[in-house]
Amino acid sequence: AKSSGRGQIRYFNNAMRKKLKRQADIENDLQTGIKNQEFELYYQPIFSLNNPKVISFEALVRWHHPRNGLVSPMEFIPVAEQTGQIMELDLHLLRLAAKQLYAWQCEGMLTRVTVNVSSRHFASLDFVKYIHQLYEDYDLKMGSLSLEITESGLIENLSLATKIIKGLEPMGVKLYLDDFGTGYSALGYLHQLPIHVIKIDKSFVDQLTNRANPLVDAILSLARSLDLDVVAEGIENPKQWALLKRKGCQFGQGYLVSKPLPKEEAYRFYQEYEHQ
Ligand code: C2E
Ligand code: CA
Ligand code: CA
Ligand code: CA
Repeated sequence: AKSSGRGQIRYFNNAMRKKLKRQADIENDLQTGIKNQEFELYYQPIFSLNNPKVISFEALVRWHHPRNGLVSPMEFIPVAEQTGQIMELDLHLLRLAAKQLYAWQCEGMLTRVTVNVSSRHFASLDFVKYIHQLYEDYDLKMGSLSLEITESGLIENLSLATKIIKGLEPMGVKLYLDDFGTGYSALGYLHQLPIHVIKIDKSFVDQLTNRANPLVDAILSLARSLDLDVVAEGIENPKQWALLKRKGCQFGQGYLVSKPLPKEEAYRFYQEYEHQ
């Protein structure tokens, strides 16, 4: 038993060392990765549950790491959040998304993109200036670029966060509250935050297989009373779609309709989806 215990410790240490090594890699290589254009945005459609219409695309980052291959955002975003590098990465990705919107606008694809950003940005009005500059640089139409944030972090700076969100409104920037219902509960201050859309977390949608979920009902009625739009994340089967639609949820996202796609495929998807 003793030796197997030691074996487990050795195994644990190896796994631990590997993990720390990958985190150190991420931390060390992120800056160069930005410079070398190793980050690519994929686009996942957000669609209406009531008619065949794409209302927006969510931009989701992929890292083509020179040694470690394709690295998932689930791995490097938390590290970047921890080190603070998320600030620079987010601004870089916002610019990538703006460039893509400009290209799509030129091709006549009228569309909108939502970009995930850290709630850390909602602590300085410089963020409003940056987004404004993007709208100018890429000649973006009002409402083209919107933002997704998670609940955590906004609470600390409620009045400044509000000022920043209000500062973005003249550009038509909508605020999507991501992963709603998980982690911190925003219930206490939801009505004070000038957000526009709630995204119901996938974990709730997962439970919608053969029957309704009272929590989903509650979120939908809360959204209605606050006059917020709702997007349901992670729709993987037609039953979930039908249930959500019946309950009055307007928008959805998920593998049933499409995975996140590289830009060319997203363009093709958009052209075909509304004319099927
Ligand atoms: P998120 O914002 O909640 O994004 C949704 C995640 O669920 C994405 O994973 C998406 O690919 C996945 N997904 C969408 N539909 C389905 C489905 O039907 N089934 C399943 N099983 N999964 C689905 P992804 O792309 O790996 O991103 C993970 C997380 O990393 C995101 O969660 C977000 O928090 C973060 N992230 C991704 N891109 C960015 C970014 O550009 N900037 C920042 N700051 N964070 C990002
Ligand atoms: Ca998101
Ligand atoms: Ca989410
Ligand atoms: Ca999530």
